[in-house]
Amino acid sequence: MSGTPVSPWMEGVPSRAPALACDIDCDVAVVGAGFTGLSTAIALREHGLRVVVLERETAGFGASGRNAGHLTPWIGKDLPTLVMLFGRQRTRELIALVQTAIGHVERTIEKHAIDCAYEPVGNVMAAVHPKQYAMLEKAAKAGAEVGADCEMLEPEEMRRRGLPRAFLRGVLERRGGILHPGRYVRGLRAAALAAGAEIYEGTPVTRVEDGEPALLHTPGGRLRARMVALGTNAWTADLGLLKSAVMRLHVYLFRTAPLTQAQRRAVDWHGREGIYTAHEMLESYRLTDDDRIVGGAKTVRYGYGGRALADDPKTFAFIDAAFRDRFPELHDVAITDHWGGPIAFALDFLPAVGRAGKKGNLYYSVGYAGHGIALAGYAGTMIADLMLGQDGPGRGLWGRRRIPLPPEPLRWLVVRALTGVFGATDRRVDRKVRASLRTLSAPAPPGTSGPDPRPALYREPPDGISNL
Ligand SMILES: Cc1cc2nc3c(=O)[nH]c(=O)nc-3n(C[C@H](O)[C@H](O)[C@H](O)COP(=O)(O)OP(=O)(O)OC[C@H]3O[C@@H](n4cnc5c(N)ncnc54)[C@H](O)[C@@H]3O)c2cc1C
Repeated sequence: MSGTPVSPWMEGVPSRAPALACDIDCDVAVVGAGFTGLSTAIALREHGLRVVVLERETAGFGASGRNAGHLTPWIGKDLPTLVMLFGRQRTRELIALVQTAIGHVERTIEKHAIDCAYEPVGNVMAAVHPKQYAMLEKAAKAGAEVGADCEMLEPEEMRRRGLPRAFLRGVLERRGGILHPGRYVRGLRAAALAAGAEIYEGTPVTRVEDGEPALLHTPGGRLRARMVALGTNAWTADLGLLKSAVMRLHVYLFRTAPLTQAQRRAVDWHGREGIYTAHEMLESYRLTDDDRIVGGAKTVRYGYGGRALADDPKTFAFIDAAFRDRFPELHDVAITDHWGGPIAFALDFLPAVGRAGKKGNLYYSVGYAGHGIALAGYAGTMIADLMLGQDGPGRGLWGRRRIPLPPEPLRWLVVRALTGVFGATDRRVDRKVRASLRTLSAPAPPGTSGPDPRPALYREPPDGISNL
C-alpha cells in the first residue's frame, strides 16, 4: 500500500494493483473496493458477468479498512426506534435481513478461508449506569417481539462472562462477533480476484455518464458498462449522485498497546464479546487477537456542505479521555494509535439500496450509519437480486420511501441539533457515573472495619480521570 496505512488494520498491505490505463468494456462496473464493492464483484461473478472494479486508492481505503470490527445485527438507530418508525412487521423483516447478512458474512469467511481472526462471540450493549437500564429493557423487549436473537445479561452474568466491571448489565446480541477488518477486506479482495473480477486500484472515477451503456471516466481510460454498481458509501455525493440520500460523517477510534496479564486482571476482562454502551452516541470497546483494546467514543463530526474533514487532535484527546474515564484501572496502558474514517448516514439511519439513472441501470447500496460490516458484506447479494429482478431479504430496504436530506444550511442545523441532544443525554449519564465513583470512593464511615466490599473500580480511582 502506498503511503501511511489508513489504520493499523491496514499495516503491511502489499502494493496496489495497476490503474486503468485504456478504454475497456464490461457487463458491470463496480465503483469502490470496500465490503460493498467487493461483495458485489463476488456475487455478480457467480452469475458469470464480466465485472470490473475501479478503486480510487486501495481496496480497504475507506471505512472497510478502518472500522472497529464489531460484526453486529444492528440496523437503524436502535430497535425501539425502528419499531416506532416502521412498525413490527417491517422491523421483523429488517432484523431477519441483517441476521441473514451475518450468516452470509460468516459463510463467506469460511468459504474463502479468510484469516481475519473472526470470533463468533456476539456483542453486548452495556449499561454504564442504572439510568441506562430502561434502555436495555426496551431493547430486549423490542428484540423479543421482532425475532432478534438477543438476551438480557444481569450483573452476575456479566461478571461470570468476564466483562469489565464498568459495564453493569447488558443485552447480548448472540449473532456475530468481532473480526480484523483489514484482513477481512483484503480476503474479500483476494476472493473477488480468484472469482475472475478485474480490479484496478489508484483509479478514481471522476464522472459517471448516465446511459446504456454507462460511461465511467477515469484519468487513465474509460470504462463502458451495461450496468454500474456504486460501493462508494461516504464519497457517493462527490460523484454528484444520491446527494439527498446520504451524508458523510466522520468517526474516530484508538488502539492501545497489548494488555499485560496484570492489566487484564486489574480490569477483570477475560470475556471476548464486543462491547458497546447504551449511550445515544455509543462508546465501543473490544479486544484484538493480540490483546489490545480498540475503541472509540461519542464523537461524530460533520463538515458543512458534506466536505471531508482532516483528523483532529482535539477529537483524539476526547476519545482518550472517555476511555480513561471508563477504565480507570488501565491508567498505565499506552494508547498507541488513533485514526478516523468517513461513514454515510440517511435521515432514517437505514442503508439506501436501490437503482437509479435514466435507464435504471445504476445500482447502489450505501449509508450503513456506522454499522455496515454485516450489510455491506451482503450488499452484493442485494444488488444481484435487484439486477436480476428477484425478490430477496433486502426488499425491506429497497421498498421503502426515503426521507430526503434537507439542503444546507438546514442540514448542518439538523446534524447539530441531533448530536447536541444526544450528547446532552449522554453527558447526564456520565455525570451520574462520576458522582457514584466519588460517593463510593469516599472514606468508610468511622468505626467500620474489615475488607472493603466495593469493586476496585470504585475504591481506587487513579489520578487524571478526565471529565467529558
Ligand atoms: C471508524 C469506523 C468504525 C466503524 N466501526 C464499525 C463496526 O464496528 N461495525 C460495523 O458494522 N460497522 C462499522 N463501521 C462502518 C463500516 O465500516 C462501513 O459501514 C462499511 O465499511 C462500508 O463499506 P463500503 O464498502 O460501503 O464503504 P467503504 O469501505 O467506505 O468503501 C468505499 C470505497 O469507495 C472508494 N471510492 C470512493 N469514491 C470513489 C471514486 N470516485 N472512484 C473510485 N473509488 C472510489 C473509496 O476509496 C473506498 O475504498 C465503522 C466505520 C468507521 C469509519
